[in-house]
Amino acid sequence: MTTQPSGQRVAVITGPSGVGKGTLVRRLLQRHSEIWLSVSATTRSPRQGEQEGRDYFFLSRPDFEQRIADGDFLEWAEFAGNLYGTPRQSVQRHLEQGPVLLEIELEGARQVRQSLPAALQIFLAPPSFAELERRIRCRGTDSETAIARRLDGAREELAAAAEFDAVLVNGDLEEALVQLERLLDLG
Ligand code: 5GP
Repeated sequence: MTTQPSGQRVAVITGPSGVGKGTLVRRLLQRHSEIWLSVSATTRSPRQGEQEGRDYFFLSRPDFEQRIADGDFLEWAEFAGNLYGTPRQSVQRHLEQGPVLLEIELEGARQVRQSLPAALQIFLAPPSFAELERRIRCRGTDSETAIARRLDGAREELAAAAEFDAVLVNGDLEEALVQLERLLDLG
């Protein structure tokens, strides 16, 4: 991520549920502490171990809707029955200090494409659909219905991969990490 006009120091990473976005982003941040990962707001309940302000800002739906009305979000979307959004002000504040990374779903990435066209948009894809299904099933936390819903969502997201500036295949984590660093100009 180079020091260029507004938006160019923002990178967006999107990919279907189960592709390993979270793990890849965590590894990237361990190696590059100068990158700031945006903390989103959401109406979903915290999962075990998640902390307010570190993983998400957990809001009630009315509070979230008020913040939409106030124009507080750079982008927001509904995903699996919950609302998710990127707080505009904190992104602007952190951009003055260094590169900013947004880990968001497809609709949000599309909105950022409109509002920050210079942001680098990266799509993280699985090596194959069968492998994605295997990873989702391996988590062992979802019912058959939830798995089917995730797989439908994944099909839709994968169909949009060509909209992105770069498609990164997450087969081997370390290899994907090196490619991501290259894309972000991190050497
Ligand atoms: P999870 O509930 O598993 O943490 O996240 C569900 C999905 O919401 C993931 O695809 C994640 O990337 C996406 N997401 C997280 N924060 C945001 C956000 O601020 N905006 C949008 N559009 N998607 C988000």
